[in-house]
Amino acid sequence: MNSFTFYNPTRLIFGKGSLDQLPDQLPQNVRVLVVYGGGSIKRNGVYDGAMEHLKKLNAQVFELAGVEPNPRLSTVHRGVEICKKENIAYLLALGGGSVIDCVKAIAVGAKYEGDVWDIITRKATPTDALPFGTVLTLAATGSEMNAGSVITNWETQEKYGWGSPLTFPKFSILDPQFTFTVPRDQTIYGMVDIMSHVFEQYFHHTDNAPVQTGFCEAILRTVIDTAPKLVEDLENFEHRETILYSGTMALNGTLSMGIQGDWATHNIEHAVSAVYDIPHGGGLAILFPNWMHHVLDAGVDRFKRLAVNVFGVNPAGKSDRDIAVEGIQALRDFWTSIGAPSRLADYEIGDDKLELMADKAMVNGPFGHFKKLERDDVLAIYRASL
Ligand code: NAP
Ligand code: FE
Repeated sequence: MNSFTFYNPTRLIFGKGSLDQLPDQLPQNVRVLVVYGGGSIKRNGVYDGAMEHLKKLNAQVFELAGVEPNPRLSTVHRGVEICKKENIAYLLALGGGSVIDCVKAIAVGAKYEGDVWDIITRKATPTDALPFGTVLTLAATGSEMNAGSVITNWETQEKYGWGSPLTFPKFSILDPQFTFTVPRDQTIYGMVDIMSHVFEQYFHHTDNAPVQTGFCEAILRTVIDTAPKLVEDLENFEHRETILYSGTMALNGTLSMGIQGDWATHNIEHAVSAVYDIPHGGGLAILFPNWMHHVLDAGVDRFKRLAVNVFGVNPAGKSDRDIAVEGIQALRDFWTSIGAPSRLADYEIGDDKLELMADKAMVNGPFGHFKKLERDDVLAIYRASL
């Protein structure tokens, strides 16, 4: 293992009825900006429930609605403006990863003199942030218990991940019932994102990380077992609970303790959704198996292990490479079986902007730790994904 420091200050409040703990997390009379998306929280009771609790606290409530899936810098700017003008003391995100990521950017932007884009593009380091909490409504990103955020500048078609020790939520409230209303397609994208976060931390070259490897495989097997049942029964509490917990554990730092994850595929996907505004999980479903084929020879053993331990490939009489390839195919077949897309053509994306996307992906130079990818590698993965 590599030496490491683990730091995660987010209070995770999980389970049926957990919204009732909201008042204990916020000060009385707080000036709070409630941030949400396109209105799903008004249809599933999250908005009304949160507002009722805020009223009990005698909070002064301001609202920012309309955060887009793939949250945009322009919306972050609107939030920062409200915070500065209204002297907001606390932020409350009600929604999925996009709302939470947007709130993270507003939190640092509110305490920064310049344009928050400087922070997102890592030209400036934040030194202060407003505190914020979240009520998560979609299992996917892990943003509820990590410090990461992904923001899109739609004018320049750039989408970047960034983060700071200041951008952990103070608390996150997760009630599986709030995810009952997530539509089938978003439920699938969320599960693809969760599995992709595990893959990003499963493929590494760090020696001696058997516990981390076991955690990864346990999450993958659990999601693979649960996903087909959940897509057939979207309001099943136990399945929603299992996936919600999987999503948090996949990206709250647990799996990456002592190892150096890869993260190339997320970078490659962000360049696609920056240009075409497709769902993150949909893009990952298309790209991840093709990244796997492309980097297979950087670590056949690891792919063989995935095939056997996670996908149940029978290794008898086969070469290591054949077992590994069978595992990658099993992943593709599994995602297809639950309804995930498999080609860029599924989003009507052709080959006309591959060079542009590759330029965007390469903005900070070669990337990926399992295998370092150059521009030609990225283009090859896009071409294989058409
Ligand atoms: P999302 O973009 O937050 O939400 C997707 C859609 O689901 C929205 O239309 C939203 O509608 C709807 N929705 C959410 N909860 C719902 C519910 N309970 N019932 C019905 N509809 C619901 O999806 P996400 O996958 O969580 O977030 C994706 C973003 O996170 C991408 O930008 C991705 O790049 C980023 N990301 C971040 C991290 C991280 O660590 N920070 C990691 C991976 C990806 P409303 O708008 O109406 O609520
Ligand atoms: Fe992701």
